[in-house]
Amino acid sequence: MKTNALLDFSGLPRFDAITPADVQPAISELLAQNRTLIEQLTSDDVPATWGEFAAPLTDSIEHLSRAWGIVGHLHAVNDIPEWREAYNGMLPEVSRFFAELGQNLQLFAKYTAIRDGGDYAGLSTAQRKIIDNEVRDFRLSGAELPEDKKPRFKAISEELSSLAAKFSENLLDATNAFAEVVTDESELAGLPEDVKQAAREAAEKDGTSGWKFTLHMPSYLPVMQYADSRRLRAAMYRAYATRASEFGPPELDNTALIQRILELRREEARLLGYENFAEVSLVPKMAESVPQVLSFLRDLALKAKPFAQKDIAELRDFARQELGLEALESWDIGYASEKLLQARYAFSEQEVKQYFTEDKVLAGLFHVVETLFGVCLKPDNAPIWHEEVRFFRIETPAGELIGQFYLDLYARETKRGGAWMDEAIARRRIVQNTIAGIQKPVAYLNCNFSRPVGEKNGKLRPATFTHDEVTTLFHEAGHGLHHLLTRVEELGVSGIHGVEWDAVELPSQFLENYCWEWSVLQQMTAHIDTGAPLPRDLFDKMLAAKNFQSGLQNVRQIEFSLFDLRLHSDFDPAGQTGVRDLLAEVRREVAVIVPPEWNRFPNSFSHIFAGGYGAGYFSYKWAEVLSADCYAAFEEAGDPFDPATGRRFLDEILSAGGTRPALDNFRAFRGREPQVDALLRHSGMISA
Ligand SMILES: [Zn+2]
Repeated sequence: MKTNALLDFSGLPRFDAITPADVQPAISELLAQNRTLIEQLTSDDVPATWGEFAAPLTDSIEHLSRAWGIVGHLHAVNDIPEWREAYNGMLPEVSRFFAELGQNLQLFAKYTAIRDGGDYAGLSTAQRKIIDNEVRDFRLSGAELPEDKKPRFKAISEELSSLAAKFSENLLDATNAFAEVVTDESELAGLPEDVKQAAREAAEKDGTSGWKFTLHMPSYLPVMQYADSRRLRAAMYRAYATRASEFGPPELDNTALIQRILELRREEARLLGYENFAEVSLVPKMAESVPQVLSFLRDLALKAKPFAQKDIAELRDFARQELGLEALESWDIGYASEKLLQARYAFSEQEVKQYFTEDKVLAGLFHVVETLFGVCLKPDNAPIWHEEVRFFRIETPAGELIGQFYLDLYARETKRGGAWMDEAIARRRIVQNTIAGIQKPVAYLNCNFSRPVGEKNGKLRPATFTHDEVTTLFHEAGHGLHHLLTRVEELGVSGIHGVEWDAVELPSQFLENYCWEWSVLQQMTAHIDTGAPLPRDLFDKMLAAKNFQSGLQNVRQIEFSLFDLRLHSDFDPAGQTGVRDLLAEVRREVAVIVPPEWNRFPNSFSHIFAGGYGAGYFSYKWAEVLSADCYAAFEEAGDPFDPATGRRFLDEILSAGGTRPALDNFRAFRGREPQVDALLRHSGMISA
């Protein structure tokens, strides 16, 4: 009988042998094995110890996760009907298994018993951290509540999920409900051809003449950016800014939902023994307390605001002098900014792209990684899922294997969009046939870049990448190194496992900095025809465009973050002050652009009301500040490749996984608390 290749855990995934038909039998078998084991492990006969409970449970779940990870990966990179069907066929069962796992109070009881038992003190730091994390996650889902409080907690959770779903639905319906049909062609002036064409086709589809514009991004954004017609921009802006509010159909109004969500979140927090929802949100995050995040945001606001004021003054002058716009309204900002950017900092993306040829870029990336972290990257062999996929290994200088990774660079019709890093195998200590050893980590790096096109002298010309794409590659490589260069030996906190989610972007954003380092770019570029490196004046223009209006962009992100955090901390949903009053107060403190009174931004702020970002929106800025501050350690050493600093970054942050709080990692690397100055400097916000 043929063995199922998905059930082979002896080494690398068997991409040469795995078929969609393997999925159902393999995953069903693993689910059944896991269920039986959990049944056994939670019985009273099994002692609450690492060796007898946590270790076998980890091994068993790892097999399921690895096999299901391969299926998920193939579904993402080879989304043909057979793989889609195989994946979707098992998805509900796998999701149900993991949901049950998180609600299994017998597991919670065992973890608590380990934490409170004699075994705990003898565990390694990593093992203790894993036990603590398990207990914490169960506690935050209400496992520790007294029996009489549990039904209410469950009812709140359920109502909150349906409110979040309703919030999104209302927003989508309100977005879809609006259309602006232009019948006078002169009103299309300034719009790119493809946008006009799309608007024309949208109208035709409705059986009408003219051009139809909607509030979906591909239609809305170009209008706000390019349409010369101020009337068109104003009409679209008003519709966009009042979605899902009292200005539209009552059944799509999110106002009451916001109120209810805030009340329930506060009630949930109080049940768990916290003062407010922001405190709950911060428990599993890197940021330590509400006051810490508040002062972080306010410090950044204080320093960025003068630059934002300068940005807006420059824009007002330009709009008045060059565009004849006396008063700059909210619907003029995107338009005037685009015109200003073109006038001052224009360069051709296509010209830049000629310099970033694939081999040169990869060699540049590998050189950065090798120099920074003292490792060697080499081509390697493995079964792959597509002929264009490449495989590499990372070794110590002595030739010892550290980890391996797949690189799938090009876009394909059957590949999910975007770029992402995923793990195939995680580093950990394992025992196989009574022999203990280290399982080496393996990562997938996936991008959607354009493949080589055209020939020269009978040879395929190399692929060329935009600078954005190169930055994306470095970003994903940063995630990959976090996974691959870990030194942790316990799965639950190895690599990116157990890392707080506001710290996960630190290594990825950190590595992006090298794409803006002149010495690196000189080495990493060669014109596709002439072989010449990127010219300095072109680089200077790229840098100026990167930092264009960074003051404005920063205060806008701070405004959203501060509003979100205060809404979930000092704001009282039952009090006299309304949500809009709070937003007005936040704007008075940090904003330089005040939208019209009728703007109903909160009603469409789905990140915090329908996504996972409630009291967590700040983490975008937080991660940027931390990664910039880490990079500044190299600048202070006077060398982006300073060996001692590189080793310290590897030791204290990159290799540490989730064994200790990310803020402790940062402090150990930097020798102090995070500071916002490096981010300001990197964004061109430098005080004279
Ligand atoms: Zn990322």
